[in-house]
Amino acid sequence: NAKESGGNQLAVYNPAYSYQLEQRFEIERELREAMMLNQLELYVQPQQHANGEIVGVEVLCRWHHPERGMVPPGIFIEIAEKSDLIVELGDWILSEAITLLNKLPAHMTLAVNISLRQFRKYDFVFKIERLLLRSGVEPHRLILEVTENLFVEDFEDIALKMKTLKQSGVQFSIDDFGTGYSSLGYLNQLPLDELKIDKSFVDGIGDHHKEKLVEMVISMGKHLDLRVVAEGVETKSQVQYLQEQSADIVCQGYYFAKPLPAVAFIEGSK
Ligand code: C2E
Ligand code: MG
Ligand code: MG
Ligand code: MG
Repeated sequence: NAKESGGNQLAVYNPAYSYQLEQRFEIERELREAMMLNQLELYVQPQQHANGEIVGVEVLCRWHHPERGMVPPGIFIEIAEKSDLIVELGDWILSEAITLLNKLPAHMTLAVNISLRQFRKYDFVFKIERLLLRSGVEPHRLILEVTENLFVEDFEDIALKMKTLKQSGVQFSIDDFGTGYSSLGYLNQLPLDELKIDKSFVDGIGDHHKEKLVEMVISMGKHLDLRVVAEGVETKSQVQYLQEQSADIVCQGYYFAKPLPAVAFIEGSK
């Protein structure tokens, strides 16, 4: 990059970088269009209790691009997160998700992934409260999934927003737990309800050494009085192992169901 190349040169033309930047702007433009053209769709993935009951779903956004085909969220969310586009996108997803929640059986919760930029907005709390009020849905049925990177900066501001939402009844889950950069100190300073064990730990089940980490996360969750959800559960032996560790564990993964269109899930749960 320009700095390493030394001297007073501020920028060295880097074709790869400028290509990436162009691609990013192109995708940003298309994503704005996608919201208007209804190319985005909410998918959901069921979350299943050990006793077989589906306790809730996680909303996972999908983009049906006319030429590129299905663009995975890993790509377009990451691009949207580089600007306030994620706020527009996040608002759309939240509004659709809460409408969807109203159509789910009353015992089910609905989890929505929230990005740092959305949380930072001064009116984030207000927006969620307004959507909940409008829909009439019980706030505790909404779970906001956040990752540990939310707690690295502006901790006070984030904590205050979480506490305000918590007072309204909204639940919080730590997604991809154990893979972020923050210390564990936040765990008892925030109003948390759930820990999601990251798939990378679940993948380690079967290897005695790696299983220790899964045991540790489950026991940490129990000690802190949090619900524990295992993500990316793909095999029967993983399910069995997780249930041996905790009778209350909730599992989410291809073993039970892949994400499916929200409309199909609602049809199926009638
Ligand atoms: P995440 O929230 O950790 O979601 C879990 C991801 O793991 C999803 O990928 C899901 O489809 C996938 N998955 C679930 N079970 C299995 C399994 O058994 N095996 C494998 N191999 N994968 C499994 P997806 O849908 O591609 O989403 C990727 C990430 O994109 C999400 O990770 C989340 O961070 C982000 N994302 C998705 N939708 C949204 C959204 O609406 N808003 C925001 N801010 N982020 C979103
Ligand atoms: Mg998630
Ligand atoms: Mg995750
Ligand atoms: Mg993730």
